[in-house]
Amino acid sequence: MQFVGDELGQLDELSLRRFWTTVDSPSGPEVTIEGRRYLQFASNDYLGLANDPRVVRAAVEATRKWGAGTGSARLITGAQRPHEELESQLAALKQTEAALLFSSGYLANIGTIQALAGPQDAIFSDELNHASIIDGCRLSKAKTYVYRHTDTGHLRDLLRANARRKLVVTDTVFSMDGDLAPLPDLVDLCEESGAMLMVDEAHATGVLGRGAVSHFGLEGRVPIIMGTLSKALGAAGGYIAGSRELIEFLTNKARSFIFDTSLPSPVAAAASAAIKILADEPWRSQRVRHNAKKLAEGLGAPDPAGAIVPIVIGQADEALRLSAALRDAGILVVAIRPPSVTDGTSRLRATVMATHNEEHIDRLIDAFLKLRISV
Ligand SMILES: *Cc1c(COP(=O)(O)O)cnc(C)c1O
Repeated sequence: MQFVGDELGQLDELSLRRFWTTVDSPSGPEVTIEGRRYLQFASNDYLGLANDPRVVRAAVEATRKWGAGTGSARLITGAQRPHEELESQLAALKQTEAALLFSSGYLANIGTIQALAGPQDAIFSDELNHASIIDGCRLSKAKTYVYRHTDTGHLRDLLRANARRKLVVTDTVFSMDGDLAPLPDLVDLCEESGAMLMVDEAHATGVLGRGAVSHFGLEGRVPIIMGTLSKALGAAGGYIAGSRELIEFLTNKARSFIFDTSLPSPVAAAASAAIKILADEPWRSQRVRHNAKKLAEGLGAPDPAGAIVPIVIGQADEALRLSAALRDAGILVVAIRPPSVTDGTSRLRATVMATHNEEHIDRLIDAFLKLRISV
């Protein structure tokens, strides 16, 4: 197994080796690492709900009532009540007939794409789609056409291809660029060409209210809506929202649903509590977008669609150096490098939360200016 060490060495040389930080506090606007407090701009807990006392209480109570684990996959030991309650809430949130939980957003994407498309089919995928979509395309063995980022003209050309079934798939808010897919055009194009449309609302749900589909008033016109509970909903797990028939189909065909132990009920109960808060406290969505806008303005960056403000640096080593310098200044902003982004577009990816205050944002802008980091 010499290659293991060799390849790690190569990653080091290219500044592409990955590592994590050990954190001594819950993930929030501020975190503690080895006794020092840091301001954090790395979490996707956009609404600040992961540690909200109401969400935590729901998880604790569900742990007492349902235990820590479910014992097996849903088709073996059944759904526990919190699963079905959460699915009803998700269907209502996304204004669909039904929803189906998976253990993560990653599993929701790979299982659903693989169920919907096979070797005789064609998938059309935005070039900046999340890795879980890319892996779903690979697993499906469908012919995959990658269209230029948000380029509906390019997609229109590619859709002329012959295939049994066609599936167009896109992030709505893109995870590394923070911009928005041209959903109204994509919906029209799919309706014209008879292609299925699947959207990944991981970074839009809770930030753009219910998500980008409802932001654009496209309810009822996107047949396959994917989302995660792990970002704005502060918990973990993924889901698909759609017609009752689609959910029945996935129950029977999505391998990552069938062969995976169901989500622990405390996690489902936490997400349920978070959805209630999302409805009761719309200020959270407004606040996170306000914070993102303020940060982008301060850095001279384009207006972000959601909570993600990327500052493209270029080379991986430079992005790492700047991330380390910010950390020395007490601020956590992660350096995103290939293969998460394409070569030469390594970046600092700042994410804001509803629970960051004005002073937090000002401190980040000041730190960027001091380090002469600009867009
Ligand atoms: C985070 C993310 C996922 C995966 O969701 P998890 O619940 O973390 O597995 C899928 N798609 C996009 C766009 C994401 O950002």
